[in-house]
Amino acid sequence: MAIYVLLGPPGGGKGTLAELLRKRFGFLHISTGDILREEIRRETPLGRQVRDCMGRGALVPDEVVGAVVAARLAEDELRRHGCFLDGFPRTLVQAQLFERLLADAGLALDRVFLLATDDVDRLIKRLTGRRVCGQCRAVCNLVYSPPRQPGRCDHCGGPLEQRGDDTEPTARERLRVYTEQTEPLVRFYDERGLLLRLDGAREGLELLSEVSLALGLN
Ligand code: AMP
Repeated sequence: MAIYVLLGPPGGGKGTLAELLRKRFGFLHISTGDILREEIRRETPLGRQVRDCMGRGALVPDEVVGAVVAARLAEDELRRHGCFLDGFPRTLVQAQLFERLLADAGLALDRVFLLATDDVDRLIKRLTGRRVCGQCRAVCNLVYSPPRQPGRCDHCGGPLEQRGDDTEPTARERLRVYTEQTEPLVRFYDERGLLLRLDGAREGLELLSEVSLALGLN
């Protein structure tokens, strides 16, 4: 059972790749963003605590997201299937906290895949064009994978919605936060010999085969 991290800017394709890996190999896809959005949707105390931060494109406090991840690391399912973390860690403090959480749980981080790209225009188009189905949560993109029927999900016909933080000003703020707070993790994991760079300009299926090859899973 293995633990992997997907690192890279918002809009870089981490979620898409993690879903492909889940479907092909059964790895759990642990997205801290998805977990927090679900808390907001259910109006839990945690959801109320993080809603404003997320709406502004800022990061939620390290200890809050650390507790979310600690709970997932304790699950039996994770030990059975292994996982790809998407969106955690996002700061150096989180990376250090993660090392402690893993050690406490008797687990170890196997590899960090970096989805690297400098193409800011493309990232902005991926973020602002992203639409999520309000029913089945499938994701499409108005520019790169437009729905057959405008406003309707190709999979279930449900209504397509835009995430509140995918508007252009907030998307730009999230990219700024990434550069400032998350990019230092590239060096952190490189120094530990855990980092493997992928070409973020590639699309999902190409990335899937690159990761499968690196992990000897073909
Ligand atoms: P994502 O879905 O990964 O783009 O995350 C959406 C938002 O959730 C981020 O802009 C943050 O507000 C919050 N978030 C998700 N993961 C983290 C994290 N590891 N640390 C802090 N905030 C996070």
